[in-house]
Amino acid sequence: LKSELSVSSDGHGSHGASAERVVVLVIGGGGREHALCYALQRSPACDAIFCAPGNAGISTSGNATCIPDLDISDSSAVISFCREWSVGLVVVGPEAPLVSGLANDLVMAGIPTFGPSAEAAALEGSKNFMKTICDKYGIPTAKYQTFSDASAAKQYIKEQGAPIVIKADGLAAGKGVTVAMTLEEAYEAVDSMLVEGVFGSAGCQVIVEEFLEGEEASFFALVDGENAIPLESAQDHKRVGDGDTGCKFVGVLYAGLMIEKKSGLPKLIEYNVRFGDPESQVLMVRLESDLAKVLLAACRGELKGVSLKWSPGSAMVVVMASKGYPGSYEKGTVIRDLEEAEHVAPSVKIFHAGTALDSDGNFIATGGRVLGITANGKDLEEARDKAYQAVEEINWPGGFYRKDIGWRALSSKAIC
Ligand code: AMP
Repeated sequence: LKSELSVSSDGHGSHGASAERVVVLVIGGGGREHALCYALQRSPACDAIFCAPGNAGISTSGNATCIPDLDISDSSAVISFCREWSVGLVVVGPEAPLVSGLANDLVMAGIPTFGPSAEAAALEGSKNFMKTICDKYGIPTAKYQTFSDASAAKQYIKEQGAPIVIKADGLAAGKGVTVAMTLEEAYEAVDSMLVEGVFGSAGCQVIVEEFLEGEEASFFALVDGENAIPLESAQDHKRVGDGDTGCKFVGVLYAGLMIEKKSGLPKLIEYNVRFGDPESQVLMVRLESDLAKVLLAACRGELKGVSLKWSPGSAMVVVMASKGYPGSYEKGTVIRDLEEAEHVAPSVKIFHAGTALDSDGNFIATGGRVLGITANGKDLEEARDKAYQAVEEINWPGGFYRKDIGWRALSSKAIC
């Protein structure tokens, strides 16, 4: 491990003795974490990078030293690791450890952590909490009611009519939302959550919400408890006023919006409390600022006046998934020619989300979403062409991809 660590830190070259440099631990093992490790490796403030558990792409690319055996659901194990390796910044990728309080425990132990406390992460961990915050602060969102009783929920659905949206209150691995086009579908969703308990305690309460028709958009901001900076260079700095809730939010606040067709106005669909995936992949290849420095500033409440620098042009990511996804799919199919694909153009970068190495050293697919093929270009067309050229080099009979990524932005000439 020590020799690998010195390999990771070599990548930065020499820096002034006075410049602060930290050892970083990234928590998670998907494409988002691969992209974060890739950006951190370019970060002068970053001395060495660990990723727990990490994945085969992160370890083979040398972007970080992976710690597959560190149990990220065990805060004391993570704290011991941080102490042993003098970790000066923990970046928590996924929502589940945040919602269960990993950041609380790390901060209590004196370890700077980028990611909100469990109380603040409830913005994502409880849709009912998020809705009450919207009510309190007048944030436009779909009209709703919360139920724990199935017949009361059905009565409300009958009054409102379809289409209508049923949501499990808690985290349900991205499966807790049913956009019901008929009353029957809506009743079924209510029964599955409140009667059959398919999501366990996450579905003990359901939110029944007005169906919004329109175009979806996402907005990300880095937040330090007081100040928020958007993850896009062209937009104004803003404040996120959640201080009144009594818990400081440090991390990424990601607003999923619906630009409503009938009014043209944005309404909040959801908050996420971490970098989106695969959105983070395109952001990280365009980020020119020193990521570790910015994240440390967020942990210290020092984001005021910080602005992020992005490479000009556009980036696009094409996700390759196992055939059958999101339904059942085969695991262990061999993926070849990833190196050739990355050689298509200097700006092509492949982030791994679900791969492992087999005993012959081949990459094999271990999940549904497996690879993110990312490319930069002077504009979106060029980024798309390079990304798809790279995708075509990849020899993976067990995988598939959408051929039309970018069509919305390209048809409306928006900048991605
Ligand atoms: P969520 O997990 O809340 O982001 O919901 C997942 C997806 O369901 C969203 O990305 C939308 O496509 C859709 N959705 C959620 N809420 C609504 C709504 N009120 N009206 C229409 N579609 C919705």
